[in-house]
Amino acid sequence: MSVKLLLSCLLLGEVQALSGRPCSCSFIFRRSWTWNFWHITDLHWDHTYELTDNPELVCESSGTSPAANAGKFGDYACDSPWNLINSSVYAMKEILPDPDFIVWTGDDTPHIPNEDLGENAVLSIVGNLTHIIQQVFPGGYYTEKLLSRTGYRMLVLNTNLYYDQNKLTVDMEDPAGQFSWADQVLTDAANDKEKVYIIGHVPPGFFEKKRLKSWYRSKFNQKYLDLIQKHHSVIFGQFFGHHHTDSFRMFYNSKDSPISTMFLSPGVTPWKTTLPGVVDGANNPGIRVFEYDTQTLLVKDVVTYYLNLTRANVAGGRWEKEYRLTESFKVADASPASMHHVLERIANSHCYLQKYYEFNSVNYDLTECDSNCRTDHVCAAREVDFKMYENCLKEGGAAAIHGGWLPILSVALSLVLVSR
Ligand SMILES: [Zn+2]
Repeated sequence: MSVKLLLSCLLLGEVQALSGRPCSCSFIFRRSWTWNFWHITDLHWDHTYELTDNPELVCESSGTSPAANAGKFGDYACDSPWNLINSSVYAMKEILPDPDFIVWTGDDTPHIPNEDLGENAVLSIVGNLTHIIQQVFPGGYYTEKLLSRTGYRMLVLNTNLYYDQNKLTVDMEDPAGQFSWADQVLTDAANDKEKVYIIGHVPPGFFEKKRLKSWYRSKFNQKYLDLIQKHHSVIFGQFFGHHHTDSFRMFYNSKDSPISTMFLSPGVTPWKTTLPGVVDGANNPGIRVFEYDTQTLLVKDVVTYYLNLTRANVAGGRWEKEYRLTESFKVADASPASMHHVLERIANSHCYLQKYYEFNSVNYDLTECDSNCRTDHVCAAREVDFKMYENCLKEGGAAAIHGGWLPILSVALSLVLVSR
């Protein structure tokens, strides 16, 4: 167990330091409070995937579009075959075999009409995926508890309730009472001096690949924003999926200071979205490690790994590191202040914009991100609020974002953090 190893090594390090001998655990010393967890999302197992000579019969999730380049690990028109799922879970085991926990934010079934899928298929898909994760990471738990430590909490939200396609919740003010429950949990957390991570599937705000495409009903989007603004001081990260793309969302207070970040992790499925208006919206399969400070819960770095599907089908499934956030965007960590910097860089430099854009589809779409594309991505990341997003579009995402004094503030902040 990594926890025990780490602690015993720390004790040993102290003893060795006292006795003047070199400490073999010095790297653990320096990074003593940095631990890791996996975030995987949107596995979308298509159990119908089968290699055949007829591209139209490879998988049901491709709908009417043919799976032209189908191989062992899948096709960009299809959801994940079992080989891809298997390969991603074993890649996790190889890259980071002993995470503190695994966040798995759902969407397990293929993009097949509900009536063609049925309850039994859904249960068997969820069952099989749960089984392989538990088999590869025995005893590991995913969701619900954040370690078993007092003072740390994972808040798991069912945001499907806020989805505008969900007809059951259309007339409700607070479906399932989840907002008032979350408000209570976060209020108690503040009283108990707890630190909280929030995880969910469908995110608020807008889809960066399609202008004006939001998922939540307007009233629920507002309530979600209110919740974060009210309780941001105990929230140290939000981890969501659904887009299948790699992006993030910023939250600001009324004085335009960054107060929270929602990380949108790329999906395992490469499936090309059929959302009208999205051109070539496929992606390479991605999985992600978050490095965080165990004491403060500050997200220190984000490392994304991926499978180049085209290459994998020819040469075998090799998962590679795609990028490390702090290296690629030249920031100190993944705190809200740093993520605000990342956004400023994307908004103001074509070089960073292009880099972000290629990461957005996990190195699938390497075309140039032009000024319209820039507006869509920058405004979606910057404005979760419906009105503010529309204003941002009108300004072409051009205005200097949220004041010019923030760099100074974040330098001051990092000095404070360093001196602690
Ligand atoms: Zn999905």
